[in-house]
Amino acid sequence: MATARRGLRVVVVGGGVGGLCLAQGLRKAGIDVSVHERDDSIRGRNQGYRLHISPDGERALRECLPERVQALLTATANSRYGFGMANYDEHLVPQWTPEMSDPRADQVDKVDAVDRVTLRKVLLAGLTGAVHFGKRYTHHEVQPDGTVAVQFADGSVDTGDVLVAADGANSVIRRAQGFPEPRDLGVRTIFGRIPMTERLRAELPEILQDRFTWVIGSDEHKLGLMPMVFRTEPATASARLWPELAFEPCDDYFMSVFSMHRTATGMPDEQFLAMSGAQLWEFAKARTTGWHPHLRAIMEFADVEETFPVAVRATAPIELWEPGPLIPLGDAVHAMPPSGGVGANTALRDAATLTRELLAADRGEQPVALASERYQTEMLGYATDAVAMSLQVAKWSLKRIDFDESVLPARVAG
Ligand SMILES: Cc1cc2nc3c(=O)[nH]c(=O)nc-3n(C[C@H](O)[C@H](O)[C@H](O)COP(=O)(O)OP(=O)(O)OC[C@H]3O[C@@H](n4cnc5c(N)ncnc54)[C@H](O)[C@@H]3O)c2cc1C
Repeated sequence: MATARRGLRVVVVGGGVGGLCLAQGLRKAGIDVSVHERDDSIRGRNQGYRLHISPDGERALRECLPERVQALLTATANSRYGFGMANYDEHLVPQWTPEMSDPRADQVDKVDAVDRVTLRKVLLAGLTGAVHFGKRYTHHEVQPDGTVAVQFADGSVDTGDVLVAADGANSVIRRAQGFPEPRDLGVRTIFGRIPMTERLRAELPEILQDRFTWVIGSDEHKLGLMPMVFRTEPATASARLWPELAFEPCDDYFMSVFSMHRTATGMPDEQFLAMSGAQLWEFAKARTTGWHPHLRAIMEFADVEETFPVAVRATAPIELWEPGPLIPLGDAVHAMPPSGGVGANTALRDAATLTRELLAADRGEQPVALASERYQTEMLGYATDAVAMSLQVAKWSLKRIDFDESVLPARVAG
């Protein structure tokens, strides 16, 4: 016998990758959801460019997204060149590279990398009225009837049966719960965007345009170059598939990642992290004067306005939150270094897992507290593995990170 739906109401703080994917999943499942994002728009701040989408991340997206949104995502995904990674030294002499086989080699509509801003725009599609920008969470209160009143800086309040903390690695909700901040791994990274102009394509050998290139300099500096080549340019894709969305035009580009240990920057953190895009590129060029001319040339094409520094951090070990109406998702509960390319994928997997559990709660099959516990138990397993894998890749590719593995649970340490 079919049971009546409970009419669960979910309030999400944070309209990033995880929060928006969750909203799509809940809407698709017929659950009332509202998302509150502190930025005024999707393009609010520097947030990184190309995102690798793993098979797990792709599966989660397909589970959460309605068909029309999925079609837009597939159309705007990276059109794959070569699979895997190619390693070089700074003179472009090939180095040992881990063997990787492409589990999606035969999948013509695969989504294995996306532009982050385009992904977030796609994730907004069809969520009319559910996502509110310019809403900075300040605090919340669990009321006597068990609902949660969520307060925002503009004085507004939203109330739900569940509050999902999807407010990222600097989560204020996490901090208020008394959990420790993610650990500083001592790695400092300059993220940049290098438009793939016709001139750049003509000047660079095909091999550098083909796949994820990782250059390990002999002096501890590393450079990653990841091509983002849209299957269909986003404005063209939205005009064809969803004209009301009117995406802005966006050209192909390389995402660049220039990394070193904190002590190798030669300056205090406050100074490094406050540098402008132009200063960061001058810094990178000064550190690579002896590098191969192709690598030097590519830096000349960088978009300095779209360059920013990041201090790489990780949550280890992951700690579970008290099962109840306050539920964490994504970087708010498990930040990890971008080197593994799975932080966003893990947040997407959280969204799909939590959607399933909240749907069961909405159907009256379990209380919200049990939904939270079941989701977090499942999340703890795959997210701990993802953090451990990201740390291992960071150790291998960055050579020097500040991390004591003994803080990881025994099942993944070493
Ligand atoms: C440069 C870079 C490259 C990366 N590359 C990859 C990759 O290739 N693949 C991958 O899987 N992962 C990658 N990651 C990691 C990935 O970006 C994160 O793991 C992912 O964004 C986490 O999603 P999230 O929704 O938890 O948090 P976020 O995407 O950070 O979203 C959090 C949102 O909460 C909002 N917010 C914060 N505070 C408040 C508040 N008080 N009130 C309201 N809203 C608030 C923020 O504005 C933000 O929009 C990369 C990270 C970086 C920095």
